[in-house]
Amino acid sequence: MSAVQALKAARDAGVRIGVDGDSLTLDADSAPDATVLDLLSRHKAGVLALLRTGSDGWSGEDWLAFFDERAAIAEFDGGLPRASAEVHAFDCCVVEWLNRNPARSPPAHCLGCGGSDHAYDKLLPFGTEPTGHAWLHSRCWPAWHAARKATAIAALMAMGIDLPRMHR
Ligand SMILES: [Zn+2]
Repeated sequence: MSAVQALKAARDAGVRIGVDGDSLTLDADSAPDATVLDLLSRHKAGVLALLRTGSDGWSGEDWLAFFDERAAIAEFDGGLPRASAEVHAFDCCVVEWLNRNPARSPPAHCLGCGGSDHAYDKLLPFGTEPTGHAWLHSRCWPAWHAARKATAIAALMAMGIDLPRMHR
């Protein structure tokens, strides 16, 4: 059973769940049964990740909904097999995460190597955010971007958006 299923089981049992710091708050009209409480305590970290709103304004549940929507569009409108539709949906989540967690830096230093702008070694603005850009040497960009993508994937996986789990 996953955190998503534990959360659903608790809600189906009439338990209203909230987040207070690192704790789950439970509220129900009648005492929930021990199985539900046990499930929630075993999946506490995962349930917290689903319910907690991240700094980008989305909770794990929002990301799951986005993933499911993208996968459904790719599968039913795009005609992709389910496994490919999920790979596509995961890529969409990574792009969306990068957009929602933009990197900005002052134009004085390279975000990759920390070096400065020289006539022979220009810093270039990357990103299309209206609020600003990340400044890097062009040679520093690929490694920096790969690290950003890895951060996005780790953040998504911590919220339960995880391809291996989807294929299990
Ligand atoms: Zn650099």
